[in-house]
Amino acid sequence: PRQQKNSRELVQEYINHHRVVIFSNSTCPDCVKVKNLFIQLAVEFTVIELNQMENGAALQNALEEISNQRTLPNVFINKTHLGGCDATERAHQENRLAAMLRAGEEEVTAGHPELESYDYDLVVIGGGVGGLAASKEAANLGAKVALLDFVKPSERGTTWGLGGTCVNVGCIPKKLMHQATILGHSLEDARQFGWNIGDSPVRHDWDTMRDGIQDHIAVMNRAQKDDLRSKKVTYKNSYAEFMGPHKVKCTDKYGRMQELTARYFILAPGGRPRYPDIPGAREFGITSDDLFSLPHSPGKTLVVGASYVAIESAGVLAGLGLDVTVMVRSILLRGFDQQMAEMIGDHMTKHNIKFIRPCVPTKVEKTDSGDSGLLHVTATMQDDGTEVVGEYNTVMFAVGREPCTKGLRLDTVGVKVNTQNGYIIASDEEQTTCPYVYAVGDILDGKPQLKPVAIQAGQLLAMRLFGNSKLKMDYTSVGVAVFAPLEYGTVGLSEEDAIKTYGDSNIEVYHTYFDPLEWTVPHRDENTCYAKLVCLASQKLRVVGLHVLSPNAGEITQGFALGMKLGATKADFDNLVGIHPTCAEIFTGLTKTKSSGVEVAASAC
Ligand code: FAD
Ligand code: NDP
Repeated sequence: PRQQKNSRELVQEYINHHRVVIFSNSTCPDCVKVKNLFIQLAVEFTVIELNQMENGAALQNALEEISNQRTLPNVFINKTHLGGCDATERAHQENRLAAMLRAGEEEVTAGHPELESYDYDLVVIGGGVGGLAASKEAANLGAKVALLDFVKPSERGTTWGLGGTCVNVGCIPKKLMHQATILGHSLEDARQFGWNIGDSPVRHDWDTMRDGIQDHIAVMNRAQKDDLRSKKVTYKNSYAEFMGPHKVKCTDKYGRMQELTARYFILAPGGRPRYPDIPGAREFGITSDDLFSLPHSPGKTLVVGASYVAIESAGVLAGLGLDVTVMVRSILLRGFDQQMAEMIGDHMTKHNIKFIRPCVPTKVEKTDSGDSGLLHVTATMQDDGTEVVGEYNTVMFAVGREPCTKGLRLDTVGVKVNTQNGYIIASDEEQTTCPYVYAVGDILDGKPQLKPVAIQAGQLLAMRLFGNSKLKMDYTSVGVAVFAPLEYGTVGLSEEDAIKTYGDSNIEVYHTYFDPLEWTVPHRDENTCYAKLVCLASQKLRVVGLHVLSPNAGEITQGFALGMKLGATKADFDNLVGIHPTCAEIFTGLTKTKSSGVEVAASAC
C-alpha cells in the first residue's frame, strides 16, 4: 500500500509503472502546454498533480533528488528523465520524442535483431490524400517514413503529379469546374440585379478554365512534395510491389528498381475508373481521369453511368453550355435517398440535360462521315430491347471504379482481398490479413470512398502505430455532398434505409420545399430546393437522416453532421435559432410531416 512507502519510493513507482508520466502543477501554464502536446500527439500519459496532493511537497523534494530538477512540469518517458516544458518541446521538434516512446517496445524486440534492421519504420504505398496523411502524421511522431507514388497513364495517356485522385482528377478539379458553372448562372441572374453585361449570351472558354485549374493543381502537387520534404518523409515516384515479408520493390518510370524493407506498410493505392467491356470503349472513350485536362472542350457529350461521377460531370459540362446526354443503366445515384436522386434528375432535365434510361451502350465506333471524329454509339434499352443510336464528340464512361490491387502482389504477404471486387479486407483498425500491413482510403472494402474519410483514417492509423493512440476511425455518420447542378447534401440514412432498418411505423419524415432568397429576384428554379429530416419515433424523434437540395448544400450539411453525430433530435433542431436569411435555417422550423400529406410547396418568404 502507498501509505507505507516513502516519497522517493512513491515517485520511483510512478516512473517505473507508467510509460509517460508528467509531474505537474495544475495551475502552471507550462504544465498545461506539455499535457496539450501529448494530447495532440495522441500519446496516453499519467499526470501527477503535485499541488493537489497532501504529500505533494514531499514528492516534489523526492523528485528533485531523483531527477536533479525542481521545476514542474517534470516528464519521464519509459523510465527515462526527459525534463521540463522546453526539453519536451525540443525533443518533439527534433523527432526524439517518438524514439523515446518506442524505447519500451524496443525492449520487447531485443534479441531479435532482424526486427530492428528495416530501412524504414513505415513504407506507405500511394500518394493520394490517405497515404499522404498517414505518412506525414507518422513522420511527425518521429517515424522514419518512405512514400511511394506512381500514376500509370490512363488509356488516353493522361497522367499527373503527387496528390492522387482528389487533387488531380477528382474533388479539386471537379469542384472548380462546378464553380465555373455557378458563375455562369450568376452572370445570367446578374442582369436582373441591375448589372449591365450586354445582351449577347456570355460565352465560356474551356482552355482558360482548364489552364487555371491545372495551374492550381500544379501548385498543390509542388506543395505536397515540399511538405513531405519538410517533414523528412522520403518520397519516391515509383511503382511498388511486394517481394516478400516486410519487403517491396519499387520501380521508377525509367525502369530503375530498388528494394525497401519496413516494419509496417500502409496501402493507400486508391482506384481508377472502370471501362465497360464493349467494343470501342477503351479505344474511343474517356473517363474522369481525362476530363479535367482535356486539350479541347469535349463538345457534345454522352456520359455513361448514373452515380456521383456521372451526375457531377454531366452537370458541369451542361453548366458550361454543352449538349449533354446521360445514359442510365437503372437508377440514379444508387445508395442515395431515391426521392432526392429523382429530384436531382428532374432538375437536370429542366436544365436541358437529356437522360436515356434504362439503357446500356453496346459499342462505340468512330465515323468518318460528317464531322470528322464523331463517335457513333449503339445502345440497348433495358426494358424493351430497342436499339438506340447517337453521335457525340465525346463519350465519357463513369461506370464505377476498380481498386489498384492487381499489381501489388499482395499474395506474397498474405493480404486478402474481396474476391468479388478486389478491394482489401481489413479490420476496424485498418489492419489487413497480414499483421504488419494496413490499408486506408478508397482501397478498403465496404468503406465510404471520400477524401476526408481517407485522410482521417490515415492520420488516426499513424497515431495508433507510432503515437500509442487508441482512437479508431468512425466510418458512420459521414456527411457527403453531390455537386450536381442543384447541390445535394446528406448525412445519415436515406428514407428507404431508415424504413428498412427501423420499420415504416417508426419513421417520421419532416420536409418542405423552399426558395433561396437570392433566387427570388431572377425567378430561378422556383419550388426546387428541398429539405428533409428523417426521424426515429421510438427515440424522441432522433434525426437519423438529413437531406437537402440547395445551393451550398455541402456547407449546410457539414455543420448539421456534427449535431447528428451528437445524437440531435427533432426538438434540438426546433430549438436551434436560425441564421437569417440563409438556406440552412430551413432546418430549424420544419413542421410538416410527409405522413400528414400536407402541401409543402414554398410560399413567398
Ligand atoms: P487516391 O487518391 O486514388 O491515391 C492513390 C495513389 O496511389 C494514386 O496516385 C495512385 O496512382 C497510386 N498508386 C496506386 N498503386 C500504386 C502502386 N502500386 N505503387 C505506387 N503508387 C500507387 N471525394 C470527396 O470527398 N468529395 C468529392 O467531391 C469527391 N469528388 C470526386 C470526384 C471524382 C471525379 C472522383 C473520381 C472522386 C471523387 N472523390 C470525392 C473521391 C476522392 O477523390 C477519393 O476518396 C480519394 O481521393 C481517395 O484517396 P486515396 O488516398 O484512398 O487514393
Ligand atoms: P459508382 O460505383 O458509385 O457508380 C457506378 C455507376 O455506373 C452506377 O450508376 C452504375 O449503374 C453504372 N454502371 C456500372 N456498370 C455499368 C455498365 N456496364 N454500363 C452502364 N452503366 C454502368 O461509381 P462512381 O465512379 O460514380 O463513384 C465512385 C466513388 O467515388 C463513389 O462511391 C464516391 O464515394 C466517390 N465520389 C465522391 C464524390 C463526392 O463526394 N461528391 C464525387 C464523385 C465520386 P447501376 O446503378 O445500375 O449499378
